[in-house]
Amino acid sequence: MSKALRARGFPLVLSCTIVLVLMATAGLARAAAGCAVGPPAAAKANIASLPALQWTLQGKTEDGWALYAPLVGHEIGSVCDPGSPGFAGALMRWQMSHKVGVAGVMDAATMQAMNQVWLSRRPFVAASAKACPAPPDPSRLARATPAESFGGKTIELRSGALAAYRAMAAAARRALPQLRSDPRLLTIFSGFRSPEADAARCASEGNCQGQARAICSAHRTGLALDLDLGSAPGDRIDSSDDANRLFISRSAAYRWLVWNAGRFGFQPYPFEPWHWEWTGEPP
Ligand SMILES: [Zn+2]
Repeated sequence: MSKALRARGFPLVLSCTIVLVLMATAGLARAAAGCAVGPPAAAKANIASLPALQWTLQGKTEDGWALYAPLVGHEIGSVCDPGSPGFAGALMRWQMSHKVGVAGVMDAATMQAMNQVWLSRRPFVAASAKACPAPPDPSRLARATPAESFGGKTIELRSGALAAYRAMAAAARRALPQLRSDPRLLTIFSGFRSPEADAARCASEGNCQGQARAICSAHRTGLALDLDLGSAPGDRIDSSDDANRLFISRSAAYRWLVWNAGRFGFQPYPFEPWHWEWTGEPP
């Protein structure tokens, strides 16, 4: 800061803030410029495949990869638009290091390889491959406050998972003004579910979530939680319709979670953008 400004009492905090804003702006400008640099043909192919790529995720055929683009971007370390050359360049580097795919073009093999990486970060997946984890002792569960739960419903989680959720939700609200103006966003609509309650609901309502609820749901561990991230018009917040999942994937809240939830110990379940699992304790 110049002597003249200091002499006029130019506040130090304000000047530091201006420097930080300029640095952040410069960083964004550099990132935007970088998004134009990369293999243009691959970028063109990615624009075409975003809504159309046929690939298989856990036995289900997915149409396109647009709703997975935020997770892919985080994985390859790119904040660029998924149809940009910069994104294709970052994807190419990921493909080379994982020995899959071709030159920055998204394909089924790359999506499946990436999904394997995502699966490997969820301890519940490895644990349930051996035997379905037993639910925790009830004394290890803590109850969310009515303000933290969707519609004030009773939500229980392991205490460590609830503490991590609270820290994450507070950080998200500090970062995103739209979360502060809509307190319903980020509330929990499902936490711990006993195997007996899941089985009963599967039998009585036919609501088995593709048998996952009937067989072995991550919610039995008290480590999984479903967050209200909004929904497409006319859809439930937990609708697996492509339109709803795409809507959620484009929300600021989901994108913030993709880049930040890992700092709080949470990993995503890519097929259901509302479902997150805390990894701070074994299932
Ligand atoms: Zn869930």
